[in-house]
Amino acid sequence: MKTLPGGTAIQIPLVDLRSQYRAIQPEIDDAIRRVIEGGQFILGPEVAAFEDSFAAYLGAAGAVGVASGTAALQLSLLACGVGPGDEVITASHTFIATAEAISHVGATPVFVDIDPSTYTLNPERVAEAVTPRTKALVPVHLYGHPADMDALLAIAERRGLRVVEDAAQAHGAVYRGRRCGTIGDLAAFSFYPGKNLGAYGDGGAATGQRVDLLARVRKLRDHGRTTKYEHDEIGFGERLDALQAAILRVKLTRLEAWTEARRLVAARYRELLAGTPLGLPVERHEARHVYHLFVVRSERRDALAESLKRAGIGVGVHYPLPLHRQPAYRDLGGKAVALPETDRAAAEVLSLPIFPEMSDEQIEYVAAHVEAFFAR
Ligand SMILES: *Cc1c(COP(=O)(O)O)cnc(C)c1O
Repeated sequence: MKTLPGGTAIQIPLVDLRSQYRAIQPEIDDAIRRVIEGGQFILGPEVAAFEDSFAAYLGAAGAVGVASGTAALQLSLLACGVGPGDEVITASHTFIATAEAISHVGATPVFVDIDPSTYTLNPERVAEAVTPRTKALVPVHLYGHPADMDALLAIAERRGLRVVEDAAQAHGAVYRGRRCGTIGDLAAFSFYPGKNLGAYGDGGAATGQRVDLLARVRKLRDHGRTTKYEHDEIGFGERLDALQAAILRVKLTRLEAWTEARRLVAARYRELLAGTPLGLPVERHEARHVYHLFVVRSERRDALAESLKRAGIGVGVHYPLPLHRQPAYRDLGGKAVALPETDRAAAEVLSLPIFPEMSDEQIEYVAAHVEAFFAR
């Protein structure tokens, strides 16, 4: 049995990838064997088949498999023509890869505040932050809840900006009838193992409706190649590998069922936690939340987290230090940034365990310990 620092046995992990594997083991093992026996490990039919089925699942014009979510963001920004001298508006309350990709294409991330109910970009703050140098917006569908895309697309349209969705936590999320990953100019998915659709290693995809931009990402991921030894432009070695694609093909067939299971876990948490002082996640009427994380908030977050850890519950904080306060971003071009909702979220958010296989007893165990904490 695994233990937490301090020696407490883990009763309930934050995510449980081993129980997922047990449920699909024969198909996964067959897929891995098929790739090894076939002998084609880089791109080829497995990657193409996964790209087709992922694009069909999303309702996108296409999907391009790449080596990670970070690569998907970076190549998407390049395909959209973002480069040195450009500003790109994004959230500070996100994983650092969102901003890293912007920095690595030579542009400057401009961090704006979030809407505290959904933890996604506040369109009013975005509108205020647009300058003549702004080239693109990168909304993050954080925790699995879509960003306020209509308002953001309206700003982008008015100011002539590109929109690259960070959909790394939003596989299957829906905004006004459209899946995340089909709404902006391009979108980036991550298949990091713990994501809602996770590989057994790194992986990612760029998706969208713009076939011209997708073709550019396709070229960039594979050394700018047009034929085997002809290279149109200076590209990257950022391909999705065939083993991961074969694994993802199996897992994609389960994604809808897993998402529904996550939503049931979330609904059960809501019932059980309704009487506590916790702030619970919001699902806006126009949105389908896919609960990559079930994030609650409390001014007593640190004490609550400690108490749950002592009970063997694997909690997390996503994310404790906003990007505008990271040492790596200490030099933001001398611009002072005040992001009060971002700072408040960083101090108050707590991720409770959630995974599709989570049992009712496990949910009740977590909820009982939350209630006991507030009863003391
Ligand atoms: C996971 C994640 C990424 C990066 O994905 P990798 O596959 O780990 O490179 C980017 N943005 C967000 C919001 C993420 O959660």
